[in-house]
Amino acid sequence: MIDLHTHSTASDGSLTPRELARAGKAAGLTLMALTDHDNVSGLADFIDEAAAVGLDALSGIELSADVSAGQLHIVGLGIDPADPVLAGFCERILNGRAERNERILRAFADEGIPLTREEVAAFAGDELISRVHFAQALLARGLVASVAEAFERYLGKGALCYRDRYRPSPAECIERIHAAHGLAVMAHPFTLEPDPAALGERVAALRTLGLDGIECYYSAYGTGQTLDLLRIASRNGLFPSAGSDFHGTPKPDICLGALPIPEATCALLRERLGF
Ligand code: AMP
Ligand code: MN
Ligand code: MN
Ligand code: MN
Repeated sequence: MIDLHTHSTASDGSLTPRELARAGKAAGLTLMALTDHDNVSGLADFIDEAAAVGLDALSGIELSADVSAGQLHIVGLGIDPADPVLAGFCERILNGRAERNERILRAFADEGIPLTREEVAAFAGDELISRVHFAQALLARGLVASVAEAFERYLGKGALCYRDRYRPSPAECIERIHAAHGLAVMAHPFTLEPDPAALGERVAALRTLGLDGIECYYSAYGTGQTLDLLRIASRNGLFPSAGSDFHGTPKPDICLGALPIPEATCALLRERLGF
């Protein structure tokens, strides 16, 4: 079994990179990638632990690209975690998030809700501060009844205190992944465009930018969706990737080792990824 899209405590997952490698092994995975958001800091431990438990492992990353409609996340597989240009790229994204968080604080102050940086950071603990932590701070103050309401009223795209952060273009994401010797894979494709025909057109455009694969097997997708994605992959000469998007406790419905990937696809993926 293969899983090429997972998160650890290096971004918004609950298992450390070492725990994740052990959990993958225990779940019956034979090939696994760690793909934390916008950073490579968990990869050394993950690769080391995977080798210790006898699990083939790939260094990965998940980048959020700037698109006008929908959400485009691109997973890089087999990247060199020591690539200095990729490190600089990640730092730029990280700084963009910190700067965006300050603008969200100012937006709340302007609305007469003076949240403090410390108050929000307390919910993040060791993690990067994300909008979820702003939502938790609002909930703790009793200003909203749920995290969902916090997103609806204040933090979701287009809401009162929503502020965007720096996002690299799709071309730049693909180019950086290739320069770091990785393959670029579109994650959870239906978040870009839910209609299969329209999605096919957008995938074709990304193909011309060098996209290598798209996730056809994904935790949230049923058989019909997977078939649509396999058709899109085949028409565009992209390899069919498989990733659960495992996060541990933050997304408790997603588990490791449960994707319905045919044996032949596993063999194809292993070959494409150099195993
Ligand atoms: P950020 O990267 O700081 O912009 O925040 C992204 C985080 O917010 C991710 O963990 C998303 O899962 C979460 N998020 C985005 N939209 C919503 C929503 N409507 N309800 C709950 N969580 C959301
Ligand atoms: Mn995540
Ligand atoms: Mn994603
Ligand atoms: Mn993910």
